[in-house]
Parts: sequence; structure tokens; C-alpha cells
Amino acid sequence: MTRPSLHLYLAAPRGFCAGVDRAIRIVEMAIEKWGAPVYVRHEIVHNKYVVDELRAKGAVFVEELDDCPDDRPVVFSAHGVPKAVPAEAERRNLIHVDATCPLVTKVHNEAARHNSVGRQLIMVGHAGHPETLGTMGQLPEGEVILVETEADVARITVRDPSQLAVITQTTLSVDDTAGIVAALRRRFPEIMVPAHEDICYATTNRQAAVKAIAPKIAALFVLGSPNSSNSRRLVEVGRAAGCDYAQLVQRAADIDWRALGTPSAIGVTAGASAPEVLVEEVLDAFRARFDVTVDIVETAVEDIEFKVPRALRIPA
Ligand code: SF4
Repeated sequence: MTRPSLHLYLAAPRGFCAGVDRAIRIVEMAIEKWGAPVYVRHEIVHNKYVVDELRAKGAVFVEELDDCPDDRPVVFSAHGVPKAVPAEAERRNLIHVDATCPLVTKVHNEAARHNSVGRQLIMVGHAGHPETLGTMGQLPEGEVILVETEADVARITVRDPSQLAVITQTTLSVDDTAGIVAALRRRFPEIMVPAHEDICYATTNRQAAVKAIAPKIAALFVLGSPNSSNSRRLVEVGRAAGCDYAQLVQRAADIDWRALGTPSAIGVTAGASAPEVLVEEVLDAFRARFDVTVDIVETAVEDIEFKVPRALRIPA
């Protein structure tokens, strides 16, 4: 039987970013150094496959420090934690390793710097996301106001409109965030805005690659977990850029082949926490059904690597 031909645009960059790669290495090195189990507060990165693999190696995932025993090490996830968490770990004398992405830590430091000169912060982010909770938790209650939409900007009450600064979650939609920041500038003309919003290089690059392929394709598949902010943004960016059929899939098994039909061109990408092995799985699933021509669309080259904390580089 001849298979229908399919042009498959593969976005590049896609998948693991430097912060995710580092966080996974930290858990693996902690297990190597201290043996299993190593506790991890929250999913180290938002990907079920990654979490399952680490669980099989000896990681135990918990939501709160209260769920960790005193005699085992604990790793904090890549999303960052409120200040109270490492303080509590210190108080309990827990061995703790912080896998917060350095680009999230940079936002924490920015927030602290503004706070030290009396500025109130407005954070653009998603309520309840661990990164937002961690960043807001760097400062006392009331010092950071969260806005999620342009409509929120009109609703907030600030202490002093001349003493404000903006910070953002690192994994937001570049375009939506620009709209919210513009609304903040209109309402608070003196607000301090960072030269480049805090959206990280990996989020920006993955969205740019999706924008480049979206107009060419009938369907876009984004590998990622439903709780992965940057993966979900890739779906939205794909739709906004003209590909109505943009789907988040965790594995090849999630693809609805009947709904897809026989398109002539599709796109594939992966969120920053989705491993390449899952992309390969999806490509194989397409190859089994179509005569596939792969076209890699590379919009940026990434060569960033973050070092793991010193404590892990020294033998126990
Ligand atoms: S998506 Fe960006 S901020 Fe998040 S871990 Fe990756 S590099 Fe760091």
C-alpha cells in the first residue's frame, strides 16, 4: 500500500532548554552522590516522562517540605521556590540543593533589587504556577501584585504609581506579555520595565520557530505536559500564527489520526521540558503512516549551558 506523502516541518530549537537540562542533571547527580531516595519538592520540570524516569532512578516527588524526612536530601525544582522554603530546610538541617533555573533566579534578584529601593513590583504571570509562587514569595506579602491579563491592569491598586517596576514569568507568550506591559505603561507611565522582558531565551526561541512554520502547515503537534506553561504557550502561538489545528500531546499515542486526516504538511515542536526521545517517537508514528519528508526549520542556534551547584561536583 502506498502511503500518502507528508511534509513535516520540525521546529528548531525545540525541547530541552539549559535550565531543564541542569535541573535533571542535579537530581541524577544527587542520587549518585547520596544514594536513593532523593526527595524533590514539586515535579523537577513539568514533564511526566522525565518525572517517571527520575522516579525509577530513586527520586521521590513531593509537593511540600513537610513531606520530606529529616535524613534525606531534597532538591528544589527548576521553577524556583519562595524564600520561606530554603529557610525552613536550613532550620531543619536538611541537605538541600536548589535546581532553580539561573534565569528564574535572575528575576528573583531583580525583584529584590527593586524592593530594596522601595519599588512595588507588578508581576505578569499565571496565578498558582510554581514559578509565580516562587518569585512572589521572594518578597513580603503585598510587595508583588500579580496581573494575568490586560484587563487585570485596570483593576489593580498600587501603593505609589511613581514607585513601580515590572517583572514577568519566564515562560509567557512574548506577544501577549508585550500587550500587558504596554497596558501597564499606559496606566503607570513612570513604571520601570526591563529592557528585555524576563521571558527567557528558550521560550522566545521556541515561539519564534513555531511562528515560522505555522503559516505552512495544516496541523501542529507540541510535545509537552498539560501543566507545562511554555508548552501550552507554543500551542497558543501556533494558533495565533495561523495554524488552527494546534495540539498539545504527551506521547505519539495522543495523536487523533482520524481527526488529522491526510494533510500535506504538518509541524512538530516540543516544549522546553519535553525530551527529544518523545519527538522521535512522534516522527516514527508519522513515518509508519505517511511517506514523510522532514524539513528542519531553524530560527536560532542555542549553545547555552548552566553549571550544576558546586556541592554536587564534590564527592560526598
Ligand atoms: S524555560 Fe527558560 S526559565 Fe525555564 S528552565 Fe528553561 S531556560 Fe530556564
